[in-house]
Amino acid sequence: MQKRAAIRGPEAQAATPYQPDLFTKDEVRGFGCRFRSSDGRVRISNVVVDGPVLMVIGFVASDSRRGLYHHVRAPLGMDGGRTIMGQGYCRCESTHYHGRPCKHVLNMRNVYVRNRDRLNWLFGVPSLRTSPTIDG
Ligand SMILES: [Zn+2]
Repeated sequence: MQKRAAIRGPEAQAATPYQPDLFTKDEVRGFGCRFRSSDGRVRISNVVVDGPVLMVIGFVASDSRRGLYHHVRAPLGMDGGRTIMGQGYCRCESTHYHGRPCKHVLNMRNVYVRNRDRLNWLFGVPSLRTSPTIDG
């Protein structure tokens, strides 16, 4: 065991690897996600309007760990979900070490944008218009 308390910077990360929060396929199944992407890697359990944000909630398959999923919440803008509002929620290594929206949040956003009409219908999201632009 190394003296972890004394280590700073990248070495500290190597000494205490972050354990991502992962869900098994059975656990994911328990959430009854009503939508899955054609490749099965993104599963969406809900889409809710939360103030100025459209929250897309579900699971995204891990690339490095077969059969395991990240729980992901992607806060999207009312521009049809094109903009990611903030960094979203995902407890993967990338979010932990880099902070910015990780590829799982991006994957979920892309699946929402591609399947917007169907998802809005499925989860009873009222049809959203693009906000009027304020130009002069
Ligand atoms: Zn992630």
